[in-house]
Amino acid sequence: MTQNKTPAIILLLLASTVLFFGLYVRQLASDQSTASAMISNSSESTAVTYQWRMVTSWPKNFPGLGSAPEYFAEQVNRMSNGRFVVTVHGAGELVPALGVFDAVSNGSVEMGHSGAYYWKGKIPASQFFTAIPYGLNAQEMNSWLYYGGGMELWREIYARHNLVPLAGGNTGVQMAGWFNKEINSVEDLKGLKMRIPGFGGEVLTRLGGTAVNIPGGELFTALQTGVIDATEWVGPYNDLTFGFHQAAKYYYYPGWHEPGPALEFTVNQQAWDSLPPDFQAIVEVAARAANQDMLDLYTAKNNEALEELVNVHGVELRRLPDDVLAAFQRTSQEVLQETIAADEDVKRVYESFSKFQQGAKAYHRISEQAYYDVRDQAAQDK
Ligand code: CA
Repeated sequence: MTQNKTPAIILLLLASTVLFFGLYVRQLASDQSTASAMISNSSESTAVTYQWRMVTSWPKNFPGLGSAPEYFAEQVNRMSNGRFVVTVHGAGELVPALGVFDAVSNGSVEMGHSGAYYWKGKIPASQFFTAIPYGLNAQEMNSWLYYGGGMELWREIYARHNLVPLAGGNTGVQMAGWFNKEINSVEDLKGLKMRIPGFGGEVLTRLGGTAVNIPGGELFTALQTGVIDATEWVGPYNDLTFGFHQAAKYYYYPGWHEPGPALEFTVNQQAWDSLPPDFQAIVEVAARAANQDMLDLYTAKNNEALEELVNVHGVELRRLPDDVLAAFQRTSQEVLQETIAADEDVKRVYESFSKFQQGAKAYHRISEQAYYDVRDQAAQDK
């Protein structure tokens, strides 16, 4: 028995020693690899390999619209571990608010953040990539862009202008705007000077008004001094910040002309091509996150801003009369049909957009819309 026991103890000691030594070597190796990873991380994070400039159509850090470029830049910085830095420039810093398209297209800067419908003079079809009157809401717009063929058309059309477009946020349904004249009938639109871009502006012009496109930063003064009688901008969250309630009496809804406007990021084609695939992926994912983030922000902030406008500042909240909304809808169709006939791209984009809208309407009638109706009814019954 004793003779058998001794070798067993020796074997056990030997095995423990081998195990201990093995673990020690493993730990040593692991420590070394952690140390080298830390060294490589710290050298990567200090070496900025891409430094881009983004020009925007909004004042720097402007709540809502200006939140998307900042959010985008922050995410790109985080995801690249500081190796890709995008600096955001407010309207007028490097180029004027409405000079974003040209600056990115000609490569003066790498990126821009703006609204596609501002470029309708160059590209009539661009309006569909922001909003058209009585068109898609935010949820539907994102679905059309990402899953309904919208993004492919947008890329194809912007490629001719040396640009790569990315959806860059959505405000949700906007307000009809701030008015210093009461709108009680279609007659009241005659002679109305209003800031309203895109198709909406064309519709107002046909109904006897005068549509102008003034950058956001100049709107308050234009409204206060009577250069314009009315302006649409975004919705309560943004409008409160601008102080429009100090320059106009009436706040009308709903935003028939912009039911779910998308903003845009644009990237200069050569700048895009210069990025390695992982950084291109970072740009795409950061843009998609910024796109959703803006809608979430507006949804959260609009309600409380509206309460403040009405309860604290005494704003007169009004719904546009039915006959005015009906005239807007009729005239929108006329304008749309004429634009389609005049431009091949508009025709193609409209076909895709309107086909998608038919499907979205049919389903949303029995889902979103039916739910809103039921929820309101249930609240009334209480
Ligand atoms: Ca607007």
